[in-house]
Amino acid sequence: MLKHNMRVNMKMNPANTLWARAALLPDGWAKHVRVDLDDLGRIAEVTTDQPPVGTRIGTLLPAPVNLHSHAFQRAMAGLTEARGPDPRDTFWTWRQLMFRFLDHLSPEDCQAIAALVQMESLEAGYGAMVEFHYLHHQPGGLPYDNRAEMAGRICAAAQDSGIGLTLLPVLYRYGGCDRRRLAPGQQRFGNDPEGYAALVAGSAAAVAQLGQDAALGIAPHSLRAVAPADLNLCLELAEGRVIHMHLAEQEAEVAEVEAALRARPVEWVLDNLPLSEKWCFIHCTQMTPNETIQLAGSGAVAGLCPITEASLGDGIFDAPRYLSARGSFGIGSDSNIRISVIEELRALEYSQRLRDRGRAILAVAGRSTGRVLWQGACDGGARAAGRQTGRIAAGYWADLVALDDSQPDLAVREGDAALDTLIFAADHRAIAEVWSAGRHLVTQGRHIRRDRIVAEYRRVVERLKELV
Ligand SMILES: [Zn+2]
Repeated sequence: MLKHNMRVNMKMNPANTLWARAALLPDGWAKHVRVDLDDLGRIAEVTTDQPPVGTRIGTLLPAPVNLHSHAFQRAMAGLTEARGPDPRDTFWTWRQLMFRFLDHLSPEDCQAIAALVQMESLEAGYGAMVEFHYLHHQPGGLPYDNRAEMAGRICAAAQDSGIGLTLLPVLYRYGGCDRRRLAPGQQRFGNDPEGYAALVAGSAAAVAQLGQDAALGIAPHSLRAVAPADLNLCLELAEGRVIHMHLAEQEAEVAEVEAALRARPVEWVLDNLPLSEKWCFIHCTQMTPNETIQLAGSGAVAGLCPITEASLGDGIFDAPRYLSARGSFGIGSDSNIRISVIEELRALEYSQRLRDRGRAILAVAGRSTGRVLWQGACDGGARAAGRQTGRIAAGYWADLVALDDSQPDLAVREGDAALDTLIFAADHRAIAEVWSAGRHLVTQGRHIRRDRIVAEYRRVVERLKELV
């Protein structure tokens, strides 16, 4: 072992060696952990009970993936909290404002907004992200000369922010299950099968410009926006990559799908799609108990976005039943009204407590609530992103978070209690250092390009303020 370490020492740049007082490894907590990274940003070796060396850290965690984002919606955060003319302000009135808003977004605007979202995701402790990208065309619906212009902008933002990106170009064809035409606000999203194939090819070329950890996936938007036949096209284009789709978010959507397909949304995908670990369904807030158990057994990931689901009044995911059936879940910031790993996980557990009137709902024997939430989000996020991440182990991308152990509570907590304190009693200031595939992008809580990325975002929202 000593001989091997000496070889590693000679090969490794010291900056690529981290040493943590405590780290969450796949088997549990370990002390005095040395983590060596290779030149690509993968973890080369993990050894415990080692003397201090390289970059010294207090508590080291695997960083979860932000598995669902629509970057452009970040610029609407805080704009939809007043009552509209409707007596009952709902998801659907929120969507109207979203459509109006995006009439004004240029490719440059989208790139600046996406860079901010990616920067905030890193600062929040996410090590990678999945962009569910459906804003493709010019205002009015005419494609750009390059069909993947906007997808390329998301990739350009990732080049700037450094985040490990899984890009999902979205197929969006219809305005509803009855295959009605897209509404004026939806014209920028639409593609026919040929257009979508071109978009996927262009997106693949843009992703290929990024680091080796970047990936491409496929995303039929929802059972409202694509027909069953389109899902076959998506399966063909996926070629084994991950496939994401919105599913069972709103009661009205369940009713619409049921009327058109004679099955509830989750029931329909269970009966009609070749579900596997490659699939990720976003939301699943509207499921019967039987659907919950069946979906858990399918291997698909439930992509939960508890902050957005609360913001939009979607409902509460049935997490105890789903996790008891060994279902895989991850978390995403979706509307980006607030980007926070800590708050997303807290909202997930607290929503269960409010519904079930209990405490520590997701804890299991030997693993606290915080541990179940954090490791679950890491594992499910990795599966959904098609990215080898979520574990501090050799061969995995070095997507890592170091906590600020100078925070008075975290300084004295160990093991699962440190995670519980982080999730239930701390805020984003506890996230000190973040690496994405070994790229050290957040230091002392700040992204390395924060000032410029914020300045560019600010120019966009100041201009939009005059227009919307
Ligand atoms: Zn979404």
